[in-house]
Amino acid sequence: MKNELLNKEIDRRRTFAIISHPDAGKTTLTEKLLLFGNVIRSAGTVKGKKSGKFATSDWMEIEKKRGISVTSSVMSFEYMDRHINILDTPGHEDFSEDTYRTLTAVDSAVMIIDCTKGVEPQTIKLFKVCRMRGIPIFTFINKLDREGKEPLALLEEIEEVLGIESYAMNWPVGMGKRFLGVYDRYNEVFIRYQGKDEEDRIPFKELDAVEEISTHPTFIQAKEDFELLEEAGNDFDINKVKNGLQTPVFFGSAISNFGVEMFFRTFLDLASEPQPRQTEEGTVEPKSGEFSGFIFKIQANMNPAHRDRLAFLRICSGVFERGMTVTVSRTGKSIKLTQSQQFLASDRETVDHAYPGDIIGIYDPGVYQIGDSLFSGGNQKVEFDEIPTFAPELFVKVEAKNVMKGKQFGKGITQLVQEGAIQLFRQYGTEAYILGAVGQLQLDVFEYRMKGEYNVEVVYNMIGSKIPRWLESQDVDTSLFDSRNILVKDRNDQYVALFDNDFSLRWFQDKNPKIGLIDIMAEED
Ligand code: GDP
Repeated sequence: MKNELLNKEIDRRRTFAIISHPDAGKTTLTEKLLLFGNVIRSAGTVKGKKSGKFATSDWMEIEKKRGISVTSSVMSFEYMDRHINILDTPGHEDFSEDTYRTLTAVDSAVMIIDCTKGVEPQTIKLFKVCRMRGIPIFTFINKLDREGKEPLALLEEIEEVLGIESYAMNWPVGMGKRFLGVYDRYNEVFIRYQGKDEEDRIPFKELDAVEEISTHPTFIQAKEDFELLEEAGNDFDINKVKNGLQTPVFFGSAISNFGVEMFFRTFLDLASEPQPRQTEEGTVEPKSGEFSGFIFKIQANMNPAHRDRLAFLRICSGVFERGMTVTVSRTGKSIKLTQSQQFLASDRETVDHAYPGDIIGIYDPGVYQIGDSLFSGGNQKVEFDEIPTFAPELFVKVEAKNVMKGKQFGKGITQLVQEGAIQLFRQYGTEAYILGAVGQLQLDVFEYRMKGEYNVEVVYNMIGSKIPRWLESQDVDTSLFDSRNILVKDRNDQYVALFDNDFSLRWFQDKNPKIGLIDIMAEED
C-alpha cells in the first residue's frame, strides 16, 4: 500500500472509550453516536440490559439479570469521513481491571458526568487511569434537561476533585425546566433546546434580535456566568488537551439528543489520531510501515454455538492483512492470521484490511495472553510495554465440587485466567487454588461461567480481603508466613504475601526490614 494512502487511513481514525460512573448516561450517549453513524436505526438497541438484542453470549445473562455491563466490546463505524472505533467499558467497579486494560488501547477518552451528581467515585477511579496514561479526556456533562448543579460549580468540581484544567466548549442556558439551550463557544452559535435534537441554531451575531431569548432572565444570568468564565477561566490550549492536562467540557442531554452532535463533531476535530506507542526498544510510529499491535483482551465463548475464543488486537503500526504471518513476541512463534473480525454495533464480520487505531478480533487457538505483542517483517522484535495488572483485594480458595471433574476444572480455570477474568494464585505448600478479584461480582461471574461453559460446579472457601504485596526477592524464608498472612505464588511463579490488614503488614515490615515488598498499585501512580 502506498504510504500516502496508509497515512490518510491513520489520520482519519479516532479510537476512544467512554468512561463514567454507572447511570451517568454512557449507554444512552453511545446509542446516539451509533445513530449518527447509521449503525443502528432506533434507540434502545444497545446492550442486553434494555432490549436483549445484544446479548451475544449466554453468560451475559448475568449481566442482563443484574442490569450491568460485565464485558467491554468494540463498535466501529464511519461518520463524517472518519473511521470511529468506540471501546465500551464495564461501568461496575468490580470490573475495573477490564476497563483498565481497555484504556491501554485507546487514544482518547470521553468522560460523562451526570449534572445532578457531579464527579462520582467511579469517575475518579477511571479518570486516574486515563491521567496515568496521559490520554486526552473530553467531558460531556449530561442530563441538562434536569435540575442539576450550577455549571460553574461543576467546572470547579472537575478542577478540584480531578485536578485537571477545564475549558467549557459550550455553555448551558438554564437547566431542567428552564433549559433554553447551549451557547456553542466553538462554533459561535446558540442552539435552542426544544425538547429534542439540535435543529434551531442562531449565530451569536443575530442573537440580540431574538428577544424571547436575549431578554429572558435565565439567558441574562447565563450570560453573566459566561462572561465571568471568559475573564477568569482558562484559555483553550490544544497542546494541554492532547497531553491530558486540560479537558474540553460540553454540556448536553443525551436522552434528548441535545448537544450530542455538536459535541461529537468537535470531539472528532480535536481528539488525537492513533498515537505512537512505547516499546522496550523505543517508540513505534503508526506510520512506520511494518505491522505491529498488542492484545489487550481475550474473550472466550462469545458465541455459545461456536465456543470460540477471540483475542482483541489493537493495531499500532502498518497495515493488517488477513492471512499475514506475524510473530508473537513472548513466545517467538509465528502464526498466520487467517480468521480476523471487525466489530460493528450488532455484529462481527470478517475484515481483510485494518489500520493503526483499529481493533480487530483474531481467533485464538490458545496461544495468546493479554499483553502479547504481535509484529511482522524483518528481525526487528517489537514488544510493547506490559499491560499492568490490578492488585486484587478479595481472595477465595476454590475447588471443584466434584473431584471427578478435575480436568474440566483445570481447563476452565486456565482459560478464564488467561482471559484476565480473574487472577489465580497457588498457596505455598498446599498448592491450593486461590482466586484474587477486585470485587465480589468477578467471583460470581467466574462461578457462573465455570458452570455454564465448562460444566463444573465450584466451591468457594472465603479468605476475604487481604493486602497483596509482591516479594522483591524469590529467596524467601517461608516460615515467616502462616494461615493469616498467607504466602502464595502468582501465575508467573512470583511470591506474593497476602497480609491480613494494614496493621499486620506494618508489623511484618518492622520485623523484617530487609524483605522488599512491592505494592503494584502504588508503582503505577
Ligand atoms: P449508563 O449506566 O452510564 O450506561 O447509563 P444509561 O445510559 O443506561 O442511563 C442511565 C439512566 O439515565 C437511564 O434511565 C437513562 O434513560 C437516563 N438518562 C440518560 N441520559 C439522560 C439525559 O440526558 N437526561 C435524563 N433526564 N436522563 C437521562
